[in-house]
Amino acid sequence: MKKMKEANTAAKVCLMRCPDYAPDHVAAAIAAGLKLLNIPVRGRVVIKPNLVLAHAQKAPSAFTRPEVVAGLLENIRHEAVTEVSIVEKSGVGVSTHVMFRRAGYRTLADRYGISLCPLEEEEKVKVPLQQGKVHQSLLLSKKMHEADTLIFMPKLKSNVLSHGLTAALKLNIGSLDDRERMWHHDYLLDEKIVDILEAVHPRLVVTDAVEIAMGGNQMTEHGHQLGLIIVADNPLAHDLVAANILHLEPNQIGHLQAAIKRGYTPATLADIEILGDYPLQEVMARTATLPTGMMRVEDFDSPLAIRCGTPYCTGGCHGIFLDWLYMLRDRSPQRLNRLPAIPAIIGRTEEEITAPRLLVIGDCAARSPHLHGKQLRIAGCPPTHRDLMLKMGLRTRVLAPFVRADMVWDAYAVYPWRKWLKRKNRRVDHDNETAPRP
Ligand code: SF4
Repeated sequence: MKKMKEANTAAKVCLMRCPDYAPDHVAAAIAAGLKLLNIPVRGRVVIKPNLVLAHAQKAPSAFTRPEVVAGLLENIRHEAVTEVSIVEKSGVGVSTHVMFRRAGYRTLADRYGISLCPLEEEEKVKVPLQQGKVHQSLLLSKKMHEADTLIFMPKLKSNVLSHGLTAALKLNIGSLDDRERMWHHDYLLDEKIVDILEAVHPRLVVTDAVEIAMGGNQMTEHGHQLGLIIVADNPLAHDLVAANILHLEPNQIGHLQAAIKRGYTPATLADIEILGDYPLQEVMARTATLPTGMMRVEDFDSPLAIRCGTPYCTGGCHGIFLDWLYMLRDRSPQRLNRLPAIPAIIGRTEEEITAPRLLVIGDCAARSPHLHGKQLRIAGCPPTHRDLMLKMGLRTRVLAPFVRADMVWDAYAVYPWRKWLKRKNRRVDHDNETAPRP
């Protein structure tokens, strides 16, 4: 297994200065990092960026910028590379096809002659797992599974659903289509992330940290200039360094600890060779005052009286609701004060709660035995962001910033239509392949 191979050589993480997104600066920083690592990039290359959501007004800072992908493409244009594809699945219910356009990737594809592959429209293969704790197998993009060189390109940002950190390991959630992605996106999220790593393990990580996104919702949080590109040969090493950059304690990040427990290496910062022209201490000095937004959801300041039951799901109901509150604060802070002053129950509680109206978030909360009053339920384990936005709008009349004509069109018209069309075309192809010869 790949993790065994890693055990014999020190993992390397290069911190490269890159003051801005100017093409020559980005390409030079990546070139220097690749030279230090000396990793062969060859054959069919698949790049997996972070395009969970891209929108010029509402989500401008939390996706991998095309300039950084272009910088990598400039550096891997050689004979040994036969094909380059970008495979991604944007957030649940979001069309990746549209996100490629919004994020500027279509221009990139035209310029470099590469393929853009929305995962939800791609051919899939079932991949069995040997060590899966949440999944016994995964349905993965065939292209990604068969790649000769898999390159992860995360955006460095904070994320309250994953103990404060989104980097290389968490990026793998976007290797799954919606249904598998939401399966046990709850208190088991950490183990789920490590399951995926067994089947989708990058050879190289190149991270956009020129501008990092911090302190709010994983899609809408605001950007902060850091002037860094990270180039690494090991995703766990990358994330241990990334956690330090965000002043997070790796021992508190569940998915990193779960990966270490399962035998992935390295286990500590001391086992990593940190290279490059941007010393870690200097990077950390620049991020020292940036918040990650990590807190328990009931501590978020809003008119709602939030009561937490069990389990407390950082990656599920509790984290998703906290993320939704941050979304309002990031992009429409005035709407926070319009929330009703009513109890919001998340997780199953034994408490006796009486109120004219109660918000009941998730399936566990709905099983609370002593709630008295009209229940405004949002079902799911956990509810998706899309459901939460829609139903909170209907139940409380507080609309999320994404409730805009262009984004509603993307989510409720383009997304299902493209999935249907793709499936139909595939069925036609399949019928043609299997039809008996005349
Ligand atoms: S319903 Fe919510 S609180 Fe309960 S297990 Fe699922 S994600 Fe966790």
